[in-house]
Amino acid sequence: MTANAKVYGSKTAAVLAAAGAMLAFSAAPTFAQQQFVTIGTGGVTGVYYPAGGAICLNVNRGRAEHGIRCSAESTGGSVFNLNSIREGELNIGVVQSDVQYNSLNGIEQFDGTGPYEDLRALFSLHPEPFTVVARPDAGIESLEDLVGKRVNVGNPGSGQRNTMELLMEEYGWTMDDFALAAELPSREQAQALCDNQYDAFVFTVGHPSGSISEPVATCGAVLVNVTGDIIDRLVEENSYYFHATIPAGMYNNEEDVQTFGVGATVVSSTDTPADVVYEVVKAVFENFDEFKALHPAFGVLDREEMVSSGLSAPLHEGAQRYFEEAGLL
Ligand code: GLU
Repeated sequence: MTANAKVYGSKTAAVLAAAGAMLAFSAAPTFAQQQFVTIGTGGVTGVYYPAGGAICLNVNRGRAEHGIRCSAESTGGSVFNLNSIREGELNIGVVQSDVQYNSLNGIEQFDGTGPYEDLRALFSLHPEPFTVVARPDAGIESLEDLVGKRVNVGNPGSGQRNTMELLMEEYGWTMDDFALAAELPSREQAQALCDNQYDAFVFTVGHPSGSISEPVATCGAVLVNVTGDIIDRLVEENSYYFHATIPAGMYNNEEDVQTFGVGATVVSSTDTPADVVYEVVKAVFENFDEFKALHPAFGVLDREEMVSSGLSAPLHEGAQRYFEEAGLL
């Protein structure tokens, strides 16, 4: 060994030792402080967006201990969220239970991408009835009445567009059966209805939702029943669908509105570390009463039910760990 090499070698060793000391001193907090979690939600007037905000609010409260910085992003909805999680653009997303099922199995709109084996479930949230909202003067009293009318079928990437396309397939309709098929995202759909840009929009959403109370208040929009043999069969054949009622008085409806629905669920992938998911789930479940108080659609939430209802993907390792510790599994 030359003198030079010796000097070089000992310098390197000293640098490494110093770096090692720094690591030993600061590894845990520094690493923890750099954990960013982004939750994909939906349009700002829906329930997913405040749901993501409520989850993050609880997570961020504990930042001093776990170092996770959580933020909720407004997106195009369920299908967009799932695709973004798969591409590594989002860590966590709120998605409809039917969309979760389809992605896991690589069917319907996920036919081309194949089964998403790394998809993992965290917990379920509120029920989301498929809701048809019409102008009061449009003569729309049932789902079938949409034929020949101007309808907002939802933006591609949204859960409602997904549900609408499935219904159209079942009823044998194409986009040409509507006088107009608009594709506005949920944040624009209420105003456009009241501006008479179309006769009705569809929205798979928890209640109450700002996106529905707004056109009800502004232009007397009405909610329409979605019932019949096809709906009954869909509910019977698919575990993620259920009959749903929007109770009388929720908006301007004097009677219950009958329809069917899915559940909102929170998902992630095996790429998101178990420790991060553990803290996210814990933050919601340990501050449960505060969480529920953050949106009226959460009033019906029940901790036991949230652990399994509407979840077709396996539980994420971090969620599983928390639920076992909390005695929920
Ligand atoms: N269910 C809708 C979707 O999957 C979103 C509903 C909401 O924004 O609350 O796109």
